[in-house]
Amino acid sequence: DLDSSDEFDLEAAEEEAEDFAPAPVVAVVGRPNVGKSTLVNRIIGRRQAVVEDVPGVTRDRVAYDAQWSGRRFTVVDTGGWEPDAKDRAARIAAQAENAVATADVVLFVVDSTVGATDVDESAVKMLRRGGKPVLLVANKVDSDRQESDATALWSLGLGEPYPVSALHGRGSGDLLDAVLEALPTEAPRDDVDKPRGPRRVALVGRPNVGKSSLLNRLAGEERAVVDSVAGTTVDPVDSIVQIGGEDWLLIDTAGLRRRVGQSSGTEYYASLRTNAAIDAAEVAVVLLDAAEPISEQDQRIITMVVEAGRALVLAFNKWDLVDEDRRERLAKEIDRELRRIPWALRVNVSARTGRAVDKLAPALHTALDNWERRVPTGQLNSWLTALVQATPHPIRGGKAPRVLFATQAGTSPPKFVLFTTGPLDPGYVRFVERKLRDEFSFEGTPVHVSVKPRT
Ligand code: GDP
Ligand code: GDP
Repeated sequence: DLDSSDEFDLEAAEEEAEDFAPAPVVAVVGRPNVGKSTLVNRIIGRRQAVVEDVPGVTRDRVAYDAQWSGRRFTVVDTGGWEPDAKDRAARIAAQAENAVATADVVLFVVDSTVGATDVDESAVKMLRRGGKPVLLVANKVDSDRQESDATALWSLGLGEPYPVSALHGRGSGDLLDAVLEALPTEAPRDDVDKPRGPRRVALVGRPNVGKSSLLNRLAGEERAVVDSVAGTTVDPVDSIVQIGGEDWLLIDTAGLRRRVGQSSGTEYYASLRTNAAIDAAEVAVVLLDAAEPISEQDQRIITMVVEAGRALVLAFNKWDLVDEDRRERLAKEIDRELRRIPWALRVNVSARTGRAVDKLAPALHTALDNWERRVPTGQLNSWLTALVQATPHPIRGGKAPRVLFATQAGTSPPKFVLFTTGPLDPGYVRFVERKLRDEFSFEGTPVHVSVKPRT
């Protein structure tokens, strides 16, 4: 029985939920060279996130955390973008469309010293289809004198152009104020009806596990891989590949290929790059070499995925090399080394022979479905009530904290908050998480459980 002081505090729950809500996303799109990267750097208040002496690395599409007037959001730098273009450019267009699909607000950047081009006009059409709020950024307005260049961009029909100099910072404050106004005020709910682009997959793993071999296997003849063209400011890094007859956006395939031939970049940069790919993805396939012992480097990459809160599929590659003996040893290694992630989905594949590669798509779907699963509050709490009755918290110092109520504060990955009368033993929290997983099928996804003691 709950006494009245144990009543669930809805306001506190909502506050808590807000802490967990994913930051809204601002996508920056526009033709090459209009100043998107400069603007992104201006917004995040940094010169460059990653600088490396390899052409292309700093041009990759990346997401950054940003903040303005106390409001946090994520800003996504897209590659340059030309609609209706073929091959390379078409990939970038797909990438930009994907960015728009996942964004809450779009910054459409135009070079005001050039004016609106045909490409800009067709971009406007795509942006309209996207149905997201669009702010028109008239960039390179470095002085008062150039304000009239911005005014000319009214013709694009996107409303008032924001005159900005990304390079010098002029006008960027006003732009950011407008961005905040356009952001959704509430935490975005997962909207099942929302049409979306291909799901974003990161294919990661330590060197030589077979990432590029698997990429080639998946992409087949029509490799949707794009060569970076020397001297261009555009580095298309992602590819659309077909897995199980469906399109998937494979993040940073350029990086995969780059790692193959030239061993460019240090391990440090490889690791940054892996991290960036995981961040940009919804689900990660961590590729392991089944013929070799699970290594520390494998573990580090798995940890990156878990800490980033992405859905996870473990693919044991080179299965063609696995004999009876190795299979038995691997089973033991998995028990020992991967005990912390018993929920990870596993597939045994061979990039060389093509074995079981068709098992990847169902595994990705399962992981993503669970990653996005929302448990209705009523269902969650009737289950929880029974659980804590059957197995109450152990008594400490004559008292035992009680779990009063739970709510799912978010998805992608699922996040739960337990409201309690006092702090819980970590062991008990893990117990609840384990039971939660058993009950509500969270295979393939991290799950966060936090505790909110009543104060
Ligand atoms: P992106 O390809 O759209 O990402 O464009 P970049 O950010 O790489 O910028 C392309 C070029 O435009 C670079 O040489 C920038 O220095 C320059 N640029 C960017 N913003 C401004 C600006 O506000 N004023 C001026 N004069 N140049 C800018
Ligand atoms: P990456 O560094 O992860 O991209 O790995 P690669 O794709 O370059 O592969 C490293 C090596 O493993 C190459 O010699 C491949 O031919 C080999 N390899 C990749 N996949 C398989 C597989 O499924 N079976 C076998 N036997 N060898 C493989």
